[in-house]
Amino acid sequence: MDWDEYIKWGKEAVVWGSEYRKNLRNYPVRSQNKPGETFNSIPSNPPENPESIEQIFDDFKKIILPGVTHWQHPRFFAYFPANAAPASVFAEILTNTMGLQCMLWQTSPSATELEEKVIEWLRISLDIPEGFGGIIQDTASSATLTAILTMREKALNWKGNKVGLSGQGKLRIYASTENHSSLDKAIWFSGIGEDNLVRVPVYGAYRSMDPVALSDAIHNDRKKGFIPAGIVGVTCGTSTGSYDNLDEIGTIANNENLYFHVDAAWAGSAIICDEYKYLWQGIGKADSIVFNPHKWLGAQFDCSVHFLKDMNVQKNTLSLTPEYLKTSGVEGITNLSDYTIPLGRRFRALKLWFLIRSEGLSGIRKLIRDHINWSEELFHKIKLLNNIEVITEPVLGLFTFRFINQNSENINEINEKIVKEINDEGLIYLTPTKVGEKFVIRFMAGTLEMEENDIDVAYECIKEKSERT
Ligand code: PLP
Repeated sequence: MDWDEYIKWGKEAVVWGSEYRKNLRNYPVRSQNKPGETFNSIPSNPPENPESIEQIFDDFKKIILPGVTHWQHPRFFAYFPANAAPASVFAEILTNTMGLQCMLWQTSPSATELEEKVIEWLRISLDIPEGFGGIIQDTASSATLTAILTMREKALNWKGNKVGLSGQGKLRIYASTENHSSLDKAIWFSGIGEDNLVRVPVYGAYRSMDPVALSDAIHNDRKKGFIPAGIVGVTCGTSTGSYDNLDEIGTIANNENLYFHVDAAWAGSAIICDEYKYLWQGIGKADSIVFNPHKWLGAQFDCSVHFLKDMNVQKNTLSLTPEYLKTSGVEGITNLSDYTIPLGRRFRALKLWFLIRSEGLSGIRKLIRDHINWSEELFHKIKLLNNIEVITEPVLGLFTFRFINQNSENINEINEKIVKEINDEGLIYLTPTKVGEKFVIRFMAGTLEMEENDIDVAYECIKEKSERT
């Protein structure tokens, strides 16, 4: 393919993409492929001679597309959304075409400076106190890993990187039972070890971390000679939307001099609406906050914003500058790779800039409010159905329920079977979770192109199953 052909096929791809997005309702939401179907449709050996883009594009439609689960589908109610708004997709075309690697300020000053600017725009939009800076990472998992490494280094007086963990005191990290599994992985990879992640119990309807239990755990650990290193709070959890009281937990963190990281990967987007800022009270007490514009906000995956109260603490943990990366002859610059594990950096700020400018904060707020209202309407309707038990109330629209049958003891198996049936039918896509020992179904509305009547389709589908339970 040369650049003249690129013009022809680039136009074809844009037209195809726009038609695809407009006609998503014609596709089953979750791919209906069987395991191995895509793999076995592709020749065993790579081609020796060039093939035409026409042929490859054709195979993309015939072979690849059926094996795709349509994350932008208006009736995708599974996991969390991964919204790709047209303006952000457009910006990604520009980013990909330029093919930049933005590891240092001088490798593309605009990429660094635009990143600093959009971080500041988002800080203001989310009511995070002045003085917080930040960076864009690929995912919340990376941001949380860097936060845990920072907790480790700070607690060990910056010795861990140099001398290793052997012979150091045992570090402890505190988090509720509702945190995402990315925290568990961060604990593994930081060398802290899963036995030193203290799972603080939760209380109340929103399963918030119990501050008394947290304080007790920290004090008992200190008495036993452990080194408390940090606390991880959540706004709001993946499974059922549970959230911590950041003000209370933050006060404990600040009084105990513990680094405080807040995971708001999903819910952070909703905080641009004033009525949800109550979830965020006390956020200024955090040292580190992550939220994913690649979930609800509309910035094409991947794009995770990591706010930092004191940028230098993370820099002290992660920065390493060999001779060949030094920038000489310029003052007052920031190299954002000083704050991340990978050296290489994509130009992720561009899609945020296009997105925020083209939708305006008001456009994004309307989208989020619609989703939450429609979800709550559905919740109230299905609550009235026979054979449905509501398990957790909506938090930003996320709720859980299950099908029940008075005569059966196998409620978990029944629900497992029904959720599979629903997804095999392809009209809507739902994913399960567990609440205690109960296998339950999550409902999360949040895709960009969803309309109110997509909720009606979900209602009819759930109603039909409830009548047959
Ligand atoms: N934290 C929470 C609360 C999440 O819901 C998720 C993903 O859904 C993650 C972290 C992980 O996000 P990522 O895929 O960006 O690593």
